[in-house]
Amino acid sequence: TRTPVNVTVTGAAGQIGYALLFRIASGHLLGADVPVNLRLLEIPQGLKAAEGVAMELDDCAFPLLRGITITDSAATAFDGANVGLLVGARPRTAGMERGDLLQANGGIFGPQGKAINDHAADDIKVLVVGNPANTNALIAQRNAPDVPAERFTAMTRLDHNRAVAQLAKKAGVTVDDVKKVTIWGNHSATQYPDLFQAEIAGKSGFEATGSDQAWVENDFIPTVAKRGAAIIEVRGASSAASAANAAIDHVHTWVNGTPAGDWTSMGIVSDGSYGVPEGLISSFPVTTKDGKFEIVQGLELSDFSRARIDASVAELAEERDAVQQLGLI
Ligand code: NDP
Repeated sequence: TRTPVNVTVTGAAGQIGYALLFRIASGHLLGADVPVNLRLLEIPQGLKAAEGVAMELDDCAFPLLRGITITDSAATAFDGANVGLLVGARPRTAGMERGDLLQANGGIFGPQGKAINDHAADDIKVLVVGNPANTNALIAQRNAPDVPAERFTAMTRLDHNRAVAQLAKKAGVTVDDVKKVTIWGNHSATQYPDLFQAEIAGKSGFEATGSDQAWVENDFIPTVAKRGAAIIEVRGASSAASAANAAIDHVHTWVNGTPAGDWTSMGIVSDGSYGVPEGLISSFPVTTKDGKFEIVQGLELSDFSRARIDASVAELAEERDAVQQLGLI
Protein backbone atom coordinates (compact mmCIF):
# COMPACT_ATOMS: atom_id res chain seq x y z
CA THR A 1 0.00 0.00 0.00
CA ARG A 2 1.14 3.54 -0.75
CA THR A 3 2.23 5.99 1.90
CA PRO A 4 -0.39 8.70 2.27
CA VAL A 5 0.39 12.09 0.77
CA ASN A 6 0.14 14.97 3.25
CA VAL A 7 -2.03 17.75 1.87
CA THR A 8 -2.21 21.00 3.84
CA VAL A 9 -5.10 23.37 3.23
CA THR A 10 -5.12 26.84 4.79
CA GLY A 11 -8.37 28.71 5.30
CA ALA A 12 -9.86 25.24 5.42
CA ALA A 13 -13.13 26.34 7.01
CA GLY A 14 -13.85 28.94 4.33
CA GLN A 15 -16.10 28.68 1.30
CA ILE A 16 -13.43 27.44 -1.07
CA GLY A 17 -12.12 25.06 1.56
CA TYR A 18 -15.57 23.56 1.90
CA ALA A 19 -15.73 22.93 -1.84
CA LEU A 20 -12.16 21.66 -1.95
CA LEU A 21 -11.64 19.22 0.90
CA PHE A 22 -14.20 16.64 -0.15
CA ARG A 23 -12.71 16.39 -3.61
CA ILE A 24 -9.19 16.01 -2.26
CA ALA A 25 -10.41 13.27 0.07
CA SER A 26 -12.23 11.47 -2.74
CA GLY A 27 -9.10 11.25 -4.89
CA HIS A 28 -9.55 14.05 -7.40
CA LEU A 29 -6.41 15.96 -6.47
CA LEU A 30 -3.77 13.29 -6.91
CA GLY A 31 -5.49 10.21 -8.27
CA ALA A 32 -7.99 7.56 -7.32
CA ASP A 33 -5.27 5.31 -5.88
CA VAL A 34 -3.43 7.86 -3.72
CA PRO A 35 -4.30 7.94 0.00
CA VAL A 36 -4.14 11.34 1.70
CA ASN A 37 -3.77 12.90 5.11
CA LEU A 38 -5.48 16.26 5.37
CA ARG A 39 -3.96 19.04 7.45
CA LEU A 40 -6.39 21.87 8.02
CA LEU A 41 -4.89 25.21 9.03
CA GLU A 42 -7.22 27.89 10.35
CA ILE A 43 -7.02 31.02 12.42
CA PRO A 44 -8.28 30.45 15.99
CA GLN A 45 -11.77 31.79 15.16
CA GLY A 46 -12.01 29.27 12.30
CA LEU A 47 -11.02 26.16 14.23
CA LYS A 48 -14.49 25.20 15.41
CA ALA A 49 -15.95 25.41 11.91
CA ALA A 50 -13.00 23.34 10.63
CA GLU A 51 -13.89 20.68 13.20
CA GLY A 52 -17.40 20.64 11.78
CA VAL A 53 -16.04 20.11 8.28
CA ALA A 54 -13.84 17.30 9.61
CA MET A 55 -16.95 15.65 11.09
CA GLU A 56 -18.54 15.72 7.65
CA LEU A 57 -15.38 14.34 6.07
CA ASP A 58 -15.54 11.45 8.56
CA ASP A 59 -19.16 10.89 7.60
CA CYS A 60 -18.23 10.43 3.96
CA ALA A 61 -16.13 7.36 4.88
CA PHE A 62 -13.74 8.16 2.03
CA PRO A 63 -11.54 5.10 1.51
CA LEU A 64 -8.51 7.26 0.60
CA LEU A 65 -8.71 9.60 3.59
CA ARG A 66 -6.26 8.34 6.20
CA GLY A 67 -6.21 11.19 8.69
CA ILE A 68 -7.28 14.74 9.47
CA THR A 69 -5.32 17.22 11.57
CA ILE A 70 -6.86 20.55 12.56
CA THR A 71 -4.56 23.26 13.85
CA ASP A 72 -3.88 26.99 14.06
CA SER A 73 -0.13 26.39 13.99
CA ALA A 74 1.53 26.71 10.59
CA ALA A 75 4.49 24.64 11.81
CA THR A 76 2.17 21.75 12.67
CA ALA A 77 0.08 22.13 9.52
CA PHE A 78 3.08 22.04 7.18
CA ASP A 79 5.05 19.37 9.05
CA GLY A 80 5.92 16.83 6.36
CA ALA A 81 3.55 18.46 3.87
CA ASN A 82 3.83 17.25 0.28
CA VAL A 83 1.20 19.59 -1.14
CA GLY A 84 0.18 22.97 0.27
CA LEU A 85 -2.98 24.70 -0.88
CA LEU A 86 -2.84 28.23 0.50
CA VAL A 87 -6.44 29.40 0.36
CA GLY A 88 -6.89 31.54 3.46
CA ALA A 89 -6.02 35.18 2.91
CA ARG A 90 -6.99 38.60 4.16
CA PRO A 91 -9.72 39.88 1.84
CA ARG A 92 -9.81 43.51 0.80
CA THR A 93 -12.49 45.28 2.82
CA ALA A 94 -14.18 48.57 2.00
CA GLY A 95 -11.85 51.53 2.34
CA MET A 96 -8.75 49.37 2.73
CA GLU A 97 -5.60 50.74 1.09
CA ARG A 98 -3.50 48.41 -1.03
CA GLY A 99 -0.57 48.80 1.36
CA ASP A 100 -2.72 47.63 4.27
CA LEU A 101 -3.92 44.66 2.24
CA LEU A 102 -0.39 43.64 1.34
CA GLN A 103 0.79 44.17 4.91
CA ALA A 104 -2.00 41.95 6.28
CA ASN A 105 -1.25 39.24 3.75
CA GLY A 106 2.46 39.52 4.44
CA GLY A 107 1.61 38.62 8.03
CA ILE A 108 -0.05 35.43 6.75
CA PHE A 109 2.11 34.31 3.83
CA GLY A 110 5.49 35.26 5.32
CA PRO A 111 5.15 32.95 8.34
CA GLN A 112 3.55 30.24 6.18
CA GLY A 113 6.50 30.41 3.77
CA LYS A 114 8.86 30.08 6.71
CA ALA A 115 6.90 27.13 8.11
CA ILE A 116 7.06 25.45 4.70
CA ASN A 117 10.79 26.14 4.56
CA ASP A 118 11.39 24.61 7.98
CA HIS A 119 8.90 21.77 8.14
CA ALA A 120 7.56 20.65 4.75
CA ALA A 121 8.66 17.51 2.91
CA ASP A 122 11.44 17.80 0.34
CA ASP A 123 9.00 17.40 -2.53
CA ILE A 124 6.58 20.13 -1.32
CA LYS A 125 4.44 21.71 -4.02
CA VAL A 126 2.62 24.92 -3.14
CA LEU A 127 -0.40 26.49 -4.81
CA VAL A 128 -1.52 29.92 -3.62
CA VAL A 129 -5.22 30.63 -4.16
CA GLY A 130 -5.77 33.44 -1.63
CA ASN A 131 -5.64 36.90 -3.19
CA PRO A 132 -3.64 38.79 -4.26
CA ALA A 133 -2.46 35.30 -5.24
CA ASN A 134 0.66 36.09 -7.29
CA THR A 135 2.12 38.44 -4.72
CA ASN A 136 1.10 36.25 -1.79
CA ALA A 137 2.94 33.41 -3.53
CA LEU A 138 5.97 35.68 -3.97
CA ILE A 139 5.95 36.52 -0.27
CA ALA A 140 5.75 32.84 0.71
CA GLN A 141 8.45 31.86 -1.79
CA ARG A 142 10.89 34.53 -0.63
CA ASN A 143 10.38 33.39 2.96
CA ALA A 144 11.34 29.84 2.01
CA PRO A 145 14.91 30.23 0.71
CA ASP A 146 15.73 26.51 1.11
CA VAL A 147 12.83 25.37 -1.09
CA PRO A 148 13.37 25.47 -4.86
CA ALA A 149 11.56 28.57 -6.13
CA GLU A 150 9.61 26.62 -8.76
CA ARG A 151 7.66 24.83 -6.03
CA PHE A 152 5.69 28.01 -5.36
CA THR A 153 2.87 28.68 -7.79
CA ALA A 154 -0.18 30.94 -7.98
CA MET A 155 -3.55 30.00 -9.39
CA THR A 156 -4.64 31.30 -12.77
CA ARG A 157 -6.30 28.02 -13.69
CA LEU A 158 -9.75 29.38 -12.89
CA ASP A 159 -9.17 32.19 -15.39
CA HIS A 160 -7.86 29.60 -17.84
CA ASN A 161 -10.91 27.39 -17.42
CA ARG A 162 -13.22 30.40 -17.73
CA ALA A 163 -11.50 31.35 -20.99
CA VAL A 164 -11.84 27.81 -22.35
CA ALA A 165 -15.56 27.80 -21.53
CA GLN A 166 -16.14 31.20 -23.17
CA LEU A 167 -14.27 30.17 -26.31
CA ALA A 168 -16.12 26.87 -26.63
CA LYS A 169 -19.42 28.68 -26.35
CA LYS A 170 -18.48 31.31 -28.94
CA ALA A 171 -17.05 28.78 -31.40
CA GLY A 172 -19.97 26.37 -30.92
CA VAL A 173 -17.74 23.46 -29.92
CA THR A 174 -17.29 21.43 -26.75
CA VAL A 175 -14.62 22.44 -24.24
CA ASP A 176 -12.39 19.50 -25.13
CA ASP A 177 -11.98 20.98 -28.63
CA VAL A 178 -10.32 24.09 -27.14
CA LYS A 179 -6.54 23.80 -26.70
CA LYS A 180 -3.55 26.03 -25.95
CA VAL A 181 -5.35 28.86 -24.23
CA THR A 182 -3.04 31.06 -22.13
CA ILE A 183 -3.56 33.38 -19.21
CA TRP A 184 -0.60 35.75 -19.00
CA GLY A 185 0.40 37.96 -16.07
CA ASN A 186 -1.41 38.65 -12.84
CA HIS A 187 -4.55 36.99 -11.47
CA SER A 188 -6.30 40.34 -11.43
CA ALA A 189 -8.31 42.57 -13.73
CA THR A 190 -5.15 43.19 -15.80
CA GLN A 191 -4.67 39.52 -16.70
CA TYR A 192 -4.39 38.75 -20.40
CA PRO A 193 -6.43 35.77 -21.61
CA ASP A 194 -4.80 34.96 -24.98
CA LEU A 195 -6.84 33.23 -27.69
CA PHE A 196 -4.40 33.97 -30.51
CA GLN A 197 -2.23 30.97 -29.70
CA ALA A 198 -5.26 28.77 -29.05
CA GLU A 199 -6.39 25.95 -31.32
CA ILE A 200 -10.08 25.25 -31.61
CA ALA A 201 -11.20 22.24 -33.61
CA GLY A 202 -8.35 22.61 -36.12
CA LYS A 203 -8.53 26.40 -36.48
CA SER A 204 -6.80 29.21 -34.66
CA GLY A 205 -8.68 30.56 -31.67
CA PHE A 206 -9.17 33.87 -33.46
CA GLU A 207 -10.60 32.32 -36.64
CA ALA A 208 -12.79 29.85 -34.80
CA THR A 209 -14.45 32.71 -32.91
CA GLY A 210 -15.18 34.78 -36.02
CA SER A 211 -11.92 36.74 -36.48
CA ASP A 212 -13.47 39.58 -34.54
CA GLN A 213 -10.94 41.83 -32.78
CA ALA A 214 -13.72 43.91 -31.24
CA TRP A 215 -15.21 40.78 -29.66
CA VAL A 216 -11.80 39.82 -28.30
CA GLU A 217 -11.20 43.22 -26.72
CA ASN A 218 -14.69 44.23 -25.62
CA ASP A 219 -16.25 40.90 -24.81
CA PHE A 220 -13.92 37.93 -24.41
CA ILE A 221 -11.13 39.51 -22.36
CA PRO A 222 -13.35 41.51 -19.97
CA THR A 223 -15.77 38.60 -19.53
CA VAL A 224 -12.93 36.35 -18.38
CA ALA A 225 -11.19 39.01 -16.31
CA LYS A 226 -14.36 40.18 -14.55
CA ARG A 227 -16.09 36.84 -14.18
CA GLY A 228 -15.57 36.78 -10.42
CA ALA A 229 -17.58 39.98 -9.97
CA ALA A 230 -20.28 38.70 -12.34
CA ILE A 231 -20.69 35.54 -10.25
CA ILE A 232 -21.03 37.57 -7.07
CA GLU A 233 -23.73 39.69 -8.68
CA VAL A 234 -25.77 36.76 -9.93
CA ARG A 235 -25.13 34.14 -7.26
CA GLY A 236 -25.01 36.53 -4.34
CA ALA A 237 -21.74 34.98 -3.16
CA SER A 238 -18.26 34.63 -4.62
CA SER A 239 -17.31 31.68 -6.76
CA ALA A 240 -16.18 28.89 -4.52
CA ALA A 241 -16.85 25.56 -6.25
CA SER A 242 -15.25 26.69 -9.50
CA ALA A 243 -12.27 28.12 -7.63
CA ALA A 244 -11.87 24.84 -5.74
CA ASN A 245 -12.22 22.92 -8.99
CA ALA A 246 -9.47 25.02 -10.56
CA ALA A 247 -7.18 24.37 -7.59
CA ILE A 248 -7.77 20.64 -8.05
CA ASP A 249 -7.06 20.96 -11.79
CA HIS A 250 -3.87 22.96 -11.17
CA VAL A 251 -2.31 20.42 -8.83
CA HIS A 252 -3.59 17.43 -10.78
CA THR A 253 -2.05 18.76 -13.98
CA TRP A 254 1.21 19.67 -12.22
CA VAL A 255 1.54 16.15 -10.81
CA ASN A 256 0.10 14.13 -13.69
CA GLY A 257 1.09 16.15 -16.78
CA THR A 258 -0.55 18.12 -19.57
CA PRO A 259 -2.05 16.11 -22.44
CA ALA A 260 -0.13 15.99 -25.74
CA GLY A 261 -1.02 18.95 -27.96
CA ASP A 262 -2.17 21.16 -25.12
CA TRP A 263 -0.80 23.29 -22.30
CA THR A 264 -2.13 24.99 -19.21
CA SER A 265 -1.67 28.31 -17.39
CA MET A 266 0.13 28.61 -14.07
CA GLY A 267 1.51 31.50 -12.07
CA ILE A 268 5.18 30.58 -11.66
CA VAL A 269 8.49 32.25 -10.88
CA SER A 270 9.66 33.89 -14.08
CA ASP A 271 12.99 32.87 -15.57
CA GLY A 272 12.87 35.96 -17.79
CA SER A 273 10.92 34.26 -20.60
CA TYR A 274 8.86 36.58 -22.81
CA GLY A 275 10.49 39.60 -21.18
CA VAL A 276 8.82 39.00 -17.81
CA PRO A 277 11.37 40.13 -15.20
CA GLU A 278 13.07 37.24 -13.48
CA GLY A 279 11.68 36.40 -10.06
CA LEU A 280 8.16 37.76 -10.54
CA ILE A 281 5.39 35.20 -10.11
CA SER A 282 3.52 35.61 -13.36
CA SER A 283 1.17 33.39 -15.34
CA PHE A 284 2.64 31.63 -18.39
CA PRO A 285 1.68 28.87 -20.80
CA VAL A 286 3.28 25.73 -19.38
CA THR A 287 3.51 22.05 -20.11
CA THR A 288 3.92 19.65 -17.23
CA LYS A 289 5.42 16.19 -16.94
CA ASP A 290 6.49 14.01 -13.98
CA GLY A 291 5.76 16.74 -11.45
CA LYS A 292 7.80 19.38 -13.30
CA PHE A 293 6.75 22.17 -15.63
CA GLU A 294 8.28 24.10 -18.49
CA ILE A 295 7.28 27.40 -20.01
CA VAL A 296 6.16 26.96 -23.62
CA GLN A 297 8.83 28.75 -25.64
CA GLY A 298 8.91 30.39 -29.05
CA LEU A 299 5.38 31.81 -29.26
CA GLU A 300 5.08 34.77 -31.62
CA LEU A 301 3.36 37.63 -29.84
CA SER A 302 1.55 40.39 -31.71
CA ASP A 303 1.91 44.02 -30.61
CA PHE A 304 -1.55 43.72 -29.07
CA SER A 305 -0.58 40.69 -27.00
CA ARG A 306 2.77 42.24 -26.07
CA ALA A 307 1.12 45.41 -24.74
CA ARG A 308 -1.44 43.43 -22.71
CA ILE A 309 1.23 41.22 -21.16
CA ASP A 310 3.45 44.19 -20.39
CA ALA A 311 0.61 45.99 -18.61
CA SER A 312 -0.19 43.03 -16.36
CA VAL A 313 3.48 42.37 -15.65
CA ALA A 314 3.97 46.04 -14.76
CA GLU A 315 1.27 45.62 -12.13
CA LEU A 316 3.09 42.58 -10.73
CA ALA A 317 6.31 44.56 -10.55
CA GLU A 318 4.50 47.33 -8.65
CA GLU A 319 3.10 44.82 -6.17
CA ARG A 320 6.57 43.33 -5.72
CA ASP A 321 8.07 46.78 -5.13
CA ALA A 322 5.33 47.52 -2.59
CA VAL A 323 5.95 44.36 -0.56
CA GLN A 324 9.68 44.98 -0.80
CA GLN A 325 9.21 48.46 0.64
CA LEU A 326 7.10 47.00 3.43
CA GLY A 327 9.97 44.65 4.23
CA LEU A 328 7.84 41.57 3.51
CA ILE A 329 10.34 40.05 1.07
P1 NDP B 1 -13.04 31.98 0.40
O1 NDP B 1 -12.80 30.57 0.78
O2 NDP B 1 -14.22 32.31 -0.43
O3 NDP B 1 -11.76 32.59 -0.34
C1 NDP B 1 -10.45 32.40 0.15
C2 NDP B 1 -9.46 33.15 -0.68
O4 NDP B 1 -9.47 32.69 -2.00
C3 NDP B 1 -9.72 34.65 -0.74
O5 NDP B 1 -8.47 35.31 -0.60
C4 NDP B 1 -10.26 34.84 -2.12
O6 NDP B 1 -9.92 36.09 -2.67
C5 NDP B 1 -9.49 33.78 -2.86
N1 NDP B 1 -10.01 33.46 -4.19
C6 NDP B 1 -9.26 33.18 -5.26
N2 NDP B 1 -9.98 32.94 -6.31
C7 NDP B 1 -11.26 33.08 -5.95
C8 NDP B 1 -12.47 32.97 -6.63
N3 NDP B 1 -12.54 32.69 -7.91
N4 NDP B 1 -13.60 33.15 -5.95
C9 NDP B 1 -13.56 33.44 -4.65
N5 NDP B 1 -12.42 33.58 -3.97
C10 NDP B 1 -11.28 33.40 -4.61
O7 NDP B 1 -13.06 32.90 1.69
P2 NDP B 1 -13.75 32.68 3.09
O8 NDP B 1 -13.76 34.02 3.73
O9 NDP B 1 -14.99 31.87 2.98
O10 NDP B 1 -12.72 31.75 3.85
C11 NDP B 1 -11.44 32.12 4.19
C12 NDP B 1 -11.00 31.30 5.35
O11 NDP B 1 -9.61 31.51 5.53
C13 NDP B 1 -11.70 31.67 6.65
O12 NDP B 1 -12.16 30.49 7.25
C14 NDP B 1 -10.56 32.30 7.48
O13 NDP B 1 -10.71 32.02 8.84
C15 NDP B 1 -9.38 31.62 6.91
N6 NDP B 1 -8.08 32.24 7.02
C16 NDP B 1 -7.08 31.43 7.40
C17 NDP B 1 -5.80 31.87 7.55
C18 NDP B 1 -4.77 30.94 7.98
O14 NDP B 1 -4.95 29.75 7.92
N7 NDP B 1 -3.64 31.41 8.45
C19 NDP B 1 -5.47 33.27 7.27
C20 NDP B 1 -6.58 34.05 6.82
C21 NDP B 1 -7.85 33.54 6.69
P3 NDP B 1 -10.94 37.33 -2.68
O15 NDP B 1 -11.04 37.79 -1.24
O16 NDP B 1 -10.24 38.31 -3.56
O17 NDP B 1 -12.23 36.83 -3.22
